[in-house]
Amino acid sequence: MLPSATVPAICYKSATGPSTNPQRAFHAYRAARQHYPWLIVICPRSIVHCQLLIARSLLTLPTMSRFNLADNINMLSKLTFRRVWNATKVFSSFYWSKWTKRAVQWGMPVSISFEPTTSCNLRCPECPSGLRAFSRPTGMLRKDFFTETIDQLHRDLFYLVFYFQGEPYLNPNFLDMVSYASSKKIYTATSTNAHYMTEANARRTVESGLDRLIISIDGTTQEVYQQYRVGGRLDKVIQGAKNIVQAKKELKSKTPFIIFQFLVVKPNEHQIEEVKALGKEIGVDDVWFKTAQVYDYETDPNRLIPTIDKFSRYKKTDTGTVFKGNITNQCWRLWHDPVITWDGLVAPCCFDKDAQHKLGDLKQKSFKEVWQNGEYKAFRTKLLHGRKNIDICANCSEGTKVWG
Ligand code: SF4
Repeated sequence: MLPSATVPAICYKSATGPSTNPQRAFHAYRAARQHYPWLIVICPRSIVHCQLLIARSLLTLPTMSRFNLADNINMLSKLTFRRVWNATKVFSSFYWSKWTKRAVQWGMPVSISFEPTTSCNLRCPECPSGLRAFSRPTGMLRKDFFTETIDQLHRDLFYLVFYFQGEPYLNPNFLDMVSYASSKKIYTATSTNAHYMTEANARRTVESGLDRLIISIDGTTQEVYQQYRVGGRLDKVIQGAKNIVQAKKELKSKTPFIIFQFLVVKPNEHQIEEVKALGKEIGVDDVWFKTAQVYDYETDPNRLIPTIDKFSRYKKTDTGTVFKGNITNQCWRLWHDPVITWDGLVAPCCFDKDAQHKLGDLKQKSFKEVWQNGEYKAFRTKLLHGRKNIDICANCSEGTKVWG
């Protein structure tokens, strides 16, 4: 086995010239090692190539879709030597596992999604929180458990998403936990329906140091908005957005970076231009359009799949509706971005909304023990040999473009 540090920098000078394609280089290298077991060749172009890939991966973390200079500078300010080194190890582990089909993990998570609560004030039809359909226990993340976990991870952790299921602002300690993570210089992000963004909460949000705030707004009229955000009120969302924009101005803060997220579904697809205009009028920093995951896409019972092809993850064929994505036996997310539920269960990713694939329990073990234990390894190995055979992975957007 090679030392992990050399893996991303391997390049073998083949008969056709130096290769900077990591996968080709790896296969050439493996063939050469059969004859020369001691062979380790480092190519400067490969080092640069791999560093660029790592940088690109850091800048395209799951919740990020677009380039914004101020936000990216803020994000890069969170990098430390140790975090970059950890990301290099995770990145190397991912490629090594992909090419050898043997799951290894040499680093700690680069990013984490922590669930503040399973509770939600809305009733969205594709969400287990909205449908009150969880089979796992529901509740609120405790601050002491959160800080203990962050204490284990913050030296390596670069990005923290305060969101999995539920509405984060329903947890009374939510902004205290954001402050704690910010004090550890972690990039923090959350996603909200903005119904609780009062003037006071807006000020507290800015003061907490939150780096990114995603506001879900899926319609520009109440009639359309409530078709997906069942039980929601558009006027509250708009007022909440105005409050956070105002609080940023008053406190002369560059953060949070405020995004309107518009989940494009059939009932709202005609309002795309209108939401862009609304975002501009209110003064949010950007408007992002996201494609929707539809569980039962073959029958689409809630008629959500949009007609605009660019905003749909599915396409119609002669045999029915199919997922557009290319399901290959790899998953970058499984190597760098786990989910922790409010009660300490570790799940592979945010697609496992009910934490059915429980990979560990932080009430019983440290994060490191869970991250490198048999269940995590077994799940990674299973995915490397047949992603289609894992229920949650078969209709998953990993490796597919989800932002329009
Ligand atoms: S559902 Fe499977 S393939 Fe998709 S992100 Fe999760 S672990 Fe990866």
